[in-house]
This record gives sequence, C-alpha cells and structure tokens, in this order.
Amino acid sequence: MERFDVAIVGGGPAGSSAGHAAASGGASAVVLEKGVPRADRPDRLGPDSTDAAGILDYWVDIMGIHPDEMPDDVVLGELDRAEFIGPNESLTLRSTGIESSYDEFGFCMQRARFDDFLRDRAEDAGAEYRAGTSVRGVETDLGGEGPRHRLALADGEEIGADFLILADGPQRQVTSGVLDEYLPFDVTERLSTRETNHIAYQEHRRLPEEVFEEVAGAIKFWWGHMPGHTAYPWIFPNDDNVARIGLTMPIGMDLDDVEDRGDYPLLRPDDDRIPQGKEYVRRLLEMEYGDEYDIEADFPLVEDRGKSKGTETYAISSTRPIDSPTGAGIAVVGGAMGATSAFHEGGDHTAVRTGAIAGELAAAGDLAPYNDRWKDAIGDEVLRNVAMADVVHDYAPDDWDWAFSTANKLLDDSDGYGLFDTSNIRAGFGAARLVTTYKRTKFRFRNGKYVQVTESEYTV
Ligand SMILES: Cc1cc2nc3c(=O)[nH]c(=O)nc-3n(C[C@H](O)[C@H](O)[C@H](O)COP(=O)(O)OP(=O)(O)OC[C@H]3O[C@@H](n4cnc5c(N)ncnc54)[C@H](O)[C@@H]3O)c2cc1C
Repeated sequence: MERFDVAIVGGGPAGSSAGHAAASGGASAVVLEKGVPRADRPDRLGPDSTDAAGILDYWVDIMGIHPDEMPDDVVLGELDRAEFIGPNESLTLRSTGIESSYDEFGFCMQRARFDDFLRDRAEDAGAEYRAGTSVRGVETDLGGEGPRHRLALADGEEIGADFLILADGPQRQVTSGVLDEYLPFDVTERLSTRETNHIAYQEHRRLPEEVFEEVAGAIKFWWGHMPGHTAYPWIFPNDDNVARIGLTMPIGMDLDDVEDRGDYPLLRPDDDRIPQGKEYVRRLLEMEYGDEYDIEADFPLVEDRGKSKGTETYAISSTRPIDSPTGAGIAVVGGAMGATSAFHEGGDHTAVRTGAIAGELAAAGDLAPYNDRWKDAIGDEVLRNVAMADVVHDYAPDDWDWAFSTANKLLDDSDGYGLFDTSNIRAGFGAARLVTTYKRTKFRFRNGKYVQVTESEYTV
C-alpha cells in the first residue's frame, strides 16, 4: 500500500488547491481525480471543469489568487456589469459594492485551463496528481498502528494517508459515505434529498457579432422566468463571440405543483412536464433574439468546447455548508462541503480558499482549527448567499419584478451589496421591506448558524 501524509479525493479547484497547500507545507500529498473527458481538454484527462466561470472582483481576494498570476489564456475577458432580468423589470449592477484588490467588476475564465493551472501549480509544489483514478471508498481506523485512512481505488489499489481531504464536489460520491460513519443520522437524508438537488445544463454557442457586442462585459441572469427555487437561466460571454448559455433548476419538479404557470415566460400552455434544459435554452434564445434571428442557424453550438459537443450537464447539491469531523483527520472542502450552494453559479473562490486552508493545516499536522478557519475566510460570503437564497426562495415572477424595481430605487444611493446598507427614504416602504427582510434573515443565520451539519454533531 502506498503511503502519503495527505490524500485528496477530487482534483477540481478545491482538491488542487489543497494539494498545492499541503505540498507547499512540506507534506507528501496525492490528489486522486477520477478524470472526466472534455472536448476542450482533448489531450489530457482532468477534472470535470463544468462552469460558467465568472469571477467577481472581491472573489479574487477570497480566492487568494490574482488573475495576473494565471497563464494568459485562463482569463477570457473582463466583466463590467451584472444584469438581472425579471419578466417586466430589470436591474443592472456595475459594482459589487465590496472592497477588493481587483479593479474591474470581474472577469470570465476558461475553466478547464484554470483547473489545469491549479493542477500544474500543485504539481510544481511537489504534490502528485493522478487523473483517471476513481476513489471507491475510504476506511478509517483512528486507533490502529497503520495509516488512519485507507482509500480503495477503482483499479484495486489502496492508498494510506493520515489526513483525508474530501474535494469530490457537490455530488459527494465519496464524502457522503465517509461522513455517515460519524453521524447518528443518514447524511444523504439531510443533505441530498430531492428538494435540495439541482441540475445545471449549459451550452457553448457562437453569437452573431452584434449580439455578442451587446452582451460583452455582462453576466446576464433571467429570474422569475422558470419555476422552482434558485431556478434561472444565464448568458456569460466568453472569447471569440462565444457565450456560455445555461441554467440551473431543482431536480424532480412536478409541473402540476406550479402555481400560476402562465406567469413564467419560459413555460408554454401546452407543456405537460417541466421542460428539459436544452428546451429552456432554446426558449430563452427565441424569447430574446427569435424575432431577428434563426436561432439554430445564427447561434450555432461550438462543438469543441464544453464536455461534449458544446454542452455540459452537472448535478449540484444545493445545501448550506457543513462542518468537518476534524478529530478524525478529515476535512471536507469546496463543493463537497456545500460552499457553492446558495447561488450555484459562485463557488470557485470558496473552493480554492477552503481547499488551501485544509491543505495548509493538514501539512502542519492538525486539522482542528479548520472549521473556525473556513468561517473566518468565507463566512461573510456564505452568510450573504445563504440569506439571499432564503429571502428569494419562494419568489414568484411578480416578486422578482418588485424586488428589481425596488432595488433600482435604492441603487440611487449606493452600489451592489451596499444597497442593503442604505437608508434611502425616497425609495419608500418597499425598499424598507426588502432591506429589512434581508437583514433579518442574515441575523437569523449569524455566528455560523448557516452551517447545516455542525462539528458537535459528529461522533469521533
Ligand atoms: C453550470 C455551472 C456554472 C457555474 N458557474 C460558476 C461561476 O460562474 N463562477 C464560480 O465561481 N463558480 C461557478 N460554478 C461553481 C463551481 O463550478 C464550483 O463551485 C466548483 O467547481 C467547486 O469546485 P470543487 O473543486 O469543490 O468541485 P468540482 O469542481 O466539482 O471538482 C470535484 C472533482 O472531484 C472528482 N471526483 C468526484 N468523485 C470522485 C471520486 N470518487 N474519485 C475521484 N475523483 C472524484 C470530479 O471528477 C471533479 O473533477 C458553476 C457550476 C456549474 C455547475
């Protein structure tokens, strides 16, 4: 059996960052990535890399890696705004309202190259990165003489390690089984029920020149257009007139449960079930550009991008973050810990940061500070997202219109998240309701109450 100080399951941003930090701290570290074939990484097996890959200004500081440190081909373009489009009202943000060391509103990345950069960085620091190696399960023996953790690989080999970092992403294929050992309840019951699971679907399409000029610099989200909580389509611009057009929605929704179906612009009266992702994207493009363009001919799929033939699908577990059983020498990081969840499109920064903290602590020989350290580093960001997701959980299309028109009035005085700190009397009672609801929800989740499984619930 091969031995390492630190074994990391999953080689996405969280796993590679953990490997980098562990090796930089002098530990022997191995990153085990099952390997996902991608059209845009034809010559090298690597991690999944499905992503709209927009990074906001202050995420750079959370991530701890400035784009200047990345190879030139990782950043595809700068962003100058986010557009939120309701059925009748819209809101444009040109600032996040949060201090940051990055001067622009944000940037878009080529995610596969970003992952390759993180992997190379980990390998340069001395970590071993094995792509094409699936982890089947982990056995832990805290009292024995041998390594605390034995990882069973799909090829029949075993790896022994003193520290285990779980970075297998939001599907938690390995994480759920490991955590079950330490919890008096079924972890999948609490974290992966049908209600908390989302699917993401995305297409890479080349836009007509004039349409690309219009969307360049913007990340666009359509809220209140399709039913389901945290269900929305987006367009994120890339390079070479290509955009990522995708959506996320809860899995297993029943159309019969949707009230006021006619209010959702992307549903049709003759729908007999919730449309598939591909159909939603087609309807979005028809709605926005169908009057002037033939969508299939003028917005072609770019088949050498994405996972396969210009498309990609990915399941997301939309839970709030969980603590780790650090006493057992285990840290859960990134998407696997739910750091991605609340607004699904934002998680590369929290993945990189939590992975780096866990790797650093494992190399130092003690994971005990991990649960406090990750809250110090990303707690404000998690609190904002968890509170916002909770506030809008049951929003219907007209609630989105109300929220955007109200926020527009508040934006007279401030930018981005700053609008929740204003006392803009001219904005009226609606604004007060919006601000108060958000602040009260944040208060409810304060001091780490956003954590869905706490450290004290583990029996180690
Ligand atoms: C459609 C979409 C759009 C998004 N847009 C954005 C965005 O604009 N900005 C942003 O910041 N974030 C975005 N995100 C979120 C971002 O992709 C995640 O937060 C990030 O990928 C989490 O990184 P991770 O390393 O924790 O997990 P992942 O990137 O999911 O990596 C986990 C890795 O573990 C591997 N793995 C799983 N099981 C095993 C096993 N048994 N053995 C070995 N390896 C295994 C997988 O193959 C995978 O490569 C988006 C996500 C999706 C799905």
